[in-house]
Amino acid sequence: MYYLGIDLGGTNIAAGIVDEEMKLVYKTSIPTEAKTGVENVIARMADAAKAAMEGFGITIQEIKSIGVGTPGAVEPGTGVVIYAANLGFKHTPLGKLLGEYFPGTPVRVENDANVAAWAEAKCGAAVGTANSVTVTLGTGVGGGMIINGQLYSGFNGMGAELGHMVIHENGRPCGCGRKGCWEAYASVSGLIATTKEHMEVNPESLMWKIAGSLEKVNGLTSFDAMRKGDEEAKKVVDKYLDSVACGVTDLCNMLQPEILCIGGGISKEGDTLLKPVQEYVMKEMFARFNDTHTEIKIAKLGNDAGIIGAALLGA
Ligand SMILES: [Zn+2]
Repeated sequence: MYYLGIDLGGTNIAAGIVDEEMKLVYKTSIPTEAKTGVENVIARMADAAKAAMEGFGITIQEIKSIGVGTPGAVEPGTGVVIYAANLGFKHTPLGKLLGEYFPGTPVRVENDANVAAWAEAKCGAAVGTANSVTVTLGTGVGGGMIINGQLYSGFNGMGAELGHMVIHENGRPCGCGRKGCWEAYASVSGLIATTKEHMEVNPESLMWKIAGSLEKVNGLTSFDAMRKGDEEAKKVVDKYLDSVACGVTDLCNMLQPEILCIGGGISKEGDTLLKPVQEYVMKEMFARFNDTHTEIKIAKLGNDAGIIGAALLGA
């Protein structure tokens, strides 16, 4: 038997088949065409699922369950997406509507960041633990937490918004309306903002040469310039890593997860990111004098975490 996972994004719908050893054995993706409306998006999700089964050469009879990771908040246990602006979902019974294409097969729906955390806990960097946190450093800062073996998303499905805890009171404005959120500093957008701030007051910095112009600054500009010996770039990276580590320390103090893993684009920096964060956390975290404390790791499943975690919602 197999599990089918759908990673629903604003641009693409990825669908994949996961076997009973929790290995992703097949994946495919089609454009979401979000503008064509909710009904069509759900029909396309069904198409992507069928394409994955066909591509791998199995039928729905061999699928134990279907899981979906979607942007937005999901009402716990009901498969209803309360709100997902870019897909037009508003109290949309996504699980039920998708299930109509596959009568008799259970469909489960969860928030996409939670699903990625579920994947890391089931078969990724946090495998074998009952308490773990996955932080995703991307355009925003997303995350999910597993508590006592269960995904935790609060009583209303809006929990685990790790990016929106404040690390600088009255700091940078955040998309959520608050100021000084972790996301405003630790996301790629946050890193780009810090990079630009430093470039503007340092016209000599190598970052100018690497980026070409302020508009072209990206998440790699400061890291690349630092590797070439630029001191201003090192200040940017240090500031950035401190921000990441500050939030990670808060999460460790709050939850004492056995493993906290960091994923998303910036996690590709590997040890350049991990070592300084580990050092900071070991200096500051409450449990530092304890025999046991959180282990900080890089997430393992990369972009596939979404499909795998969705598939394994039913495992
Ligand atoms: Zn925020």
